[in-house]
Amino acid sequence: PSALVWFRRDLRSFDHAALYHALRFADRVHCVFVFDSAILDALPSKADRRVEFIQRSLIELDAGLDALSRAAGGGGAGLIVRHGRADELIPALALELGVDKVFANRDYEPAAILRDSRVAQRLAEAGIGFEDFKDQVVFERDEVLTQAGRPFSVFTPYKNAWLRMVDEACLASWPVEPLAGRLAPRQAGDGVPALGAIGFEATNLTAMRMPVGMSGGRQLLDDFLARIERYKRARDFPAVKGVSYLSTHLRFGTVSVRQLCAAARSRGGEGAECWLGELIWRDFYHMILWHNPHVLERAFRPEYAAIVWDDDAELFEAWCEARTGYPIVDAAMRQLNQTGYMHNRLRMIVASFLTKDLGIDWRRGERYFADHLNDYDLAANNGGWQWAASTGCDAQPWFRIFNPVTQSQKFDPEGRFIRRYLPELARVPDKFIHAPWTMGGIDQSACRTRIGADYPAPIVDHAAARERTLLRFGVLKDGG
Ligand code: FAD
Repeated sequence: PSALVWFRRDLRSFDHAALYHALRFADRVHCVFVFDSAILDALPSKADRRVEFIQRSLIELDAGLDALSRAAGGGGAGLIVRHGRADELIPALALELGVDKVFANRDYEPAAILRDSRVAQRLAEAGIGFEDFKDQVVFERDEVLTQAGRPFSVFTPYKNAWLRMVDEACLASWPVEPLAGRLAPRQAGDGVPALGAIGFEATNLTAMRMPVGMSGGRQLLDDFLARIERYKRARDFPAVKGVSYLSTHLRFGTVSVRQLCAAARSRGGEGAECWLGELIWRDFYHMILWHNPHVLERAFRPEYAAIVWDDDAELFEAWCEARTGYPIVDAAMRQLNQTGYMHNRLRMIVASFLTKDLGIDWRRGERYFADHLNDYDLAANNGGWQWAASTGCDAQPWFRIFNPVTQSQKFDPEGRFIRRYLPELARVPDKFIHAPWTMGGIDQSACRTRIGADYPAPIVDHAAARERTLLRFGVLKDGG
């Protein structure tokens, strides 16, 4: 028999569930990636770092498959790459190649589930099978349940149950290597098109020296494992190299989540345990999305639909464009706009600021992040926004409102992160860096930062905004 492996968010040639199962099933295995126009056409810009990340990672995947085949005594292999609607191209290619089955790794996003069911249906009509496998999470769907057999909606008991269930067998790699001689030989036309050929432009990914592909994921992982012990202490400080920066690689599967969890478990210690906890949050939000696809449009908790947001367009624009007058918020938004990354502590701060200081619907912030984050992942992003807006499962209680100035003092005490992204505040003395509007005229002249001219005055007063938010959420007191 022959098979087709459809790569999506799993751009690697090792520890790959679908590839392994295809190689077990068939003696001739083709590999394909589709630049899906259903996704690409909806992107806000033709210079999208994610498209470039994928394109460059595919070049490595193509070479990786070739090397895999040769190492197993095969004659080399290649990746077929197509551009167009995946739900049409995959069935057409399967038919053209005459394969018996298409293999893919499971996706839990509602749009992907729909796409995959359309593909499966079309394949079935042509007498071709479709099978998908768990690969991008450690535990999926109904695997971790409460004692009553229901899905969890609170993280800590979920995490404890997850930790009780995990063992070496669940984290074992799928051994694709010995079977790789069955990869179909490279055909003329295989290989990865240039960005321009799919209508996209290069971004600043290279200038930022962002590691891409499987080798990039490996490099970041090795770098992180050497300092994982410090993770728990350093992870909340955006000016410090404390986190792994692996999120984009997890998003596109250039690393294997099983290998990451296995590495954390074998290291042990408080840093590794804390980091494993973050990977469990990732599984948790995927599970939440699968059981509660309504979170895509609505609050996790139905009573929160009663909340009426202000949705002031000018305030929203100021937030997007890093002009709020709160340095920690503006520096964070510049980091996002310039690099496509934002540190987790800052994601929490800017999300809280948008919803609780500006009174803007979390869905607008969620969308902005979706358009700009390199690691954008529907499940984690929705979970993070609903957490910050207090509308989510196991969310921040609504009456706990981050103060952007004290957050800044606590997590960027010397303003190092702020100054990195807001050079206009470079000379502002430490004692004013978190709230520069409190500088008097003499200090403003001395550091050559005039508030209202060189840097904006705050667009809202935090204390007044806090009161408005408490009133806004007060509607929940009866029903919620
Ligand atoms: P590390 O601290 O090294 O963590 C390792 C990995 O654990 C991450 O790569 C990620 O896969 C996972 N992880 C960590 N924290 C979380 C979390 N809270 N929820 C789910 N998974 C987590 N993460 C995304 O991957 N994509 C998003 O679109 C996204 N949007 C977010 C939006 C908001 C408002 C908030 C508060 C958080 C969001 N997160 C998102 C979670 C988190 O901020 C990022 O995963 C993290 O900052 C990525 O950096 P890192 O890889 O260095 O993280």
